[in-house]
Amino acid sequence: MLKLKPIFKAKGITKRFNGIIALDKVSFEIYKNEIVSLIGPNGAGKSTAFNLINGFLPIDAGSIMFNDENLNGLLPYQIAQKGIAYTFQDIRLFNRLSVLDNVMTALKHQHGEDWMTPFFLWKLVNKEEKMLKEKAFSILEFVGLKEKYNSNADSISYGQMKLLSLARALAVIYGKQNSLILLDEPVAGVHPRMIDNIVQLIKKIRENRNTVLFIEHNMNVVMGISDRVIVLNAGVKIVEGKPNDIKQNKEVILAYLGHREHAA
Ligand code: ADP
Ligand code: MG
Repeated sequence: MLKLKPIFKAKGITKRFNGIIALDKVSFEIYKNEIVSLIGPNGAGKSTAFNLINGFLPIDAGSIMFNDENLNGLLPYQIAQKGIAYTFQDIRLFNRLSVLDNVMTALKHQHGEDWMTPFFLWKLVNKEEKMLKEKAFSILEFVGLKEKYNSNADSISYGQMKLLSLARALAVIYGKQNSLILLDEPVAGVHPRMIDNIVQLIKKIRENRNTVLFIEHNMNVVMGISDRVIVLNAGVKIVEGKPNDIKQNKEVILAYLGHREHAA
């Protein structure tokens, strides 16, 4: 039998904030080309898990392996260069830049740290600039934002901002093999029509041989597109499994009943 090897392994990851334990020895694995969702009531530790993976927060204990490399101690830009991209729950775009420039700056991150950007820009020969533009346009086309390329990022709709943050994440892993994309609540607060749009995009991202880990409260979306679901509650992983098993799991139902606002 073919033994699959995970491309991502979190082992006993732990994070405390002033005595509060936000994540307590959480372990999980992700296989190449999977769509995995991370669910759980508010405060469960989902975003904290993302922040440990992308290097925004230092890990207190445990380890994170990605493509057989230990990510512990790496800076966010180094983790991005290894092929992990992410979107924030609260979007975070460059509001005063155009849609196109938002994607261009994310593409340039492939070449180094933020502070290098002006220097890098200055050094760019026309040909490179043209190539980057072409890449950026192809990503905008992929997410359906090409027509908006010249608009300021703060002038587009909320759903389009979500698409743009997705485009920026795709730019970070552009052309990389074995990458992982982390999406923190990709459809939260989005118009139902746009939800369908984003769901189709996540499927397309996987079809392009990518791997997706996403946090989401919309249970139709979670159960509709996930290969596996991991459930956190109060910093602890309570269960993981296929969507159908999760739906019927008593502990999961109980965890959500305690937080009615997110009950499915
Ligand atoms: P979720 O994304 O599942 O809603 P979070 O990971 O944001 O949960 O939060 C988990 C717990 O950690 C919560 O109790 C939250 O208040 C706390 N927490 C998260 N980030 C911080 C931080 N930067 N400083 C202090 N406490 C935090
Ligand atoms: Mg969160």
